[in-house]
Amino acid sequence: MISELDELYKQVILDHNKNPRNFGVLENPTSHAKGHNPLCGDQLDLYLVIEDGIIKDVKFNGSGCAISKASASIMTSIIKGKTIEEAKQLFEHFHNLVTSDPEAEIDVSDLGKLEVFCGVREFPSRIKCASLPWHTLAQALNENGYSDLISTEV
Ligand code: ZN
Repeated sequence: MISELDELYKQVILDHNKNPRNFGVLENPTSHAKGHNPLCGDQLDLYLVIEDGIIKDVKFNGSGCAISKASASIMTSIIKGKTIEEAKQLFEHFHNLVTSDPEAEIDVSDLGKLEVFCGVREFPSRIKCASLPWHTLAQALNENGYSDLISTEV
């Protein structure tokens, strides 16, 4: 399944899978949510510390395929220190990216590291793996009263 992805993306994903950033448990999270992707068996626990609308700290734990783990690693790296509003915008960018036509040209300038998930557009079964951490983030934020985050099923 990983061999389906382009070489560059593969390397980034394998690196994050092997050395996941922000992997572990937060002792006193202000938000916590569990994500599950039954299609692949990916399980994810996401812990957040939110103060004054800013994501001060974030960690994830769980088990899953390389894509889900890399996505969680990259997502947590990106959202740490961001405001809720900025996290929502990143979710939108990510959502637009993975649901866009695989043939479509996309502007990657706003995406940063999320660019590596361009490759999953061609593999619908992988999109849920890549989007699981984001949906879990949305769930954690929504349950804490930070509503209106996109809850679209990918
Ligand atoms: Zn998966």
